[in-house]
Amino acid sequence: MAKFFEYQGKELFKESGIPIPEGMVVNTPEDAKQAAEKLAGPVVIKAQVWAGGRGKSGAVKFADTPEEAEAAAEAILGMEVKGLEVKQVLVEEKLDIAQEFYAGVIINSAQEVRGPVLMFSPEGGIDIESVPEDKIAIMNVDVIKGIMPYDTLNLVSSMGVKGKSLRQIADVLFKLFKAFQKMDCRTLEINPLVLTGDGKVLAADCRMAVDDQALFRHPELGIKIGREFLKEPTEFDLIAWSFEESDFRGTSYVAQMAEPAEVAKGGYVGYHGIGGGAAMLGMDALNKVDIKVADYADTSGNPTASKVYRVVKLIMAIPGIEGYFLSGFMMANQEQWHHAHGIVKALREELPKRPGFPVVLLLCGNKEKESQEILKEGLAGLDARIEIYDREHVYDAKFIGGRVRALVDEYREERN
Ligand code: GDP
Ligand code: MN
Repeated sequence: MAKFFEYQGKELFKESGIPIPEGMVVNTPEDAKQAAEKLAGPVVIKAQVWAGGRGKSGAVKFADTPEEAEAAAEAILGMEVKGLEVKQVLVEEKLDIAQEFYAGVIINSAQEVRGPVLMFSPEGGIDIESVPEDKIAIMNVDVIKGIMPYDTLNLVSSMGVKGKSLRQIADVLFKLFKAFQKMDCRTLEINPLVLTGDGKVLAADCRMAVDDQALFRHPELGIKIGREFLKEPTEFDLIAWSFEESDFRGTSYVAQMAEPAEVAKGGYVGYHGIGGGAAMLGMDALNKVDIKVADYADTSGNPTASKVYRVVKLIMAIPGIEGYFLSGFMMANQEQWHHAHGIVKALREELPKRPGFPVVLLLCGNKEKESQEILKEGLAGLDARIEIYDREHVYDAKFIGGRVRALVDEYREERN
């Protein structure tokens, strides 16, 4: 899921007519000080990371003066919250909170719902998971009918909210649903939705995630890779993602694991696993023989030969690798001949550029016999160190790791 920072979600709120506190995003303590000067009053300084529970981790601080704001930003910037480094903080006017609510829309993919669910609770500010069930009002939305303003009025009033704030909150919830739909969200939450001492209702926080499958409809979001990808993508990662983006048959997950300068020092192979578990086993086996992976690649879910081909081409284009290892430590039930075809085509094109290059292929499972034939016939006669293994060795990570090591050593010796 494509996740967004609080401030990005709040920009969406602003466009959607949901009131938010005055504020600005900054990345230095000095700018935090200036922001506090502009806001001219007490402020709250909040780490911008893809993690909740910032309040509890000390990543939300309050300041009465610009100097205090500067010090708070200094403390928060560079901090780690749930393993994520804080690079930006949001400086906002501090709200005078009279009451905290929760308002959210999520996708419930359970069989009996399979659609958006509106949620409202008068007990906001804490984890919604820890709020008792009878304090959460829920409405499953029929996506064809959508919602009417009275739906959110009913929902909010069912939790005992009355008077002026009833209308204000129901209006926020209605607009929240519209924003959720417009942006193809999986999650859009306000926690807390705040009622201030002087009777205003504002979104004090935002958690927003957009459905990866809908990202193509939102180029304005500038998301480069539509899946969980916590690092800044490299050129390699982006090329790999383009295979996935243009072909949804099967999956390929490919990421750069080492800097080119590191790979150039030696000891790295191009790595290709089939399925997550097999990929882990293979990495372990390589670790034990002191060989590192320049990339991580996993092709599974019955990908087409063309997808596998593109992945192998990309791996083989990594400068400085000293081998290619297909780590198929599983009896895959996908039709393995697609892998065999893709691998043969890519290696036939690439191996002539690297005489003597080590290639260790472990491929087993459905259509194994045919796949082995394709690999053996297809790769015959090439000037390379090719070893092809089948189910005989599917439990033999130690042996396979040893073969990679041995071929890499031979290849090195030959080139020195
Ligand atoms: P989270 O812990 O990551 O969800 O971060 P929040 O943005 O929800 O902030 C945590 C808590 O800090 C909120 O539940 C509030 O109690 C408090 N808080 C946040 N903004 C303000 C504010 O403007 N005024 C006051 N008084 N409290 C705030
Ligand atoms: Mn929150």
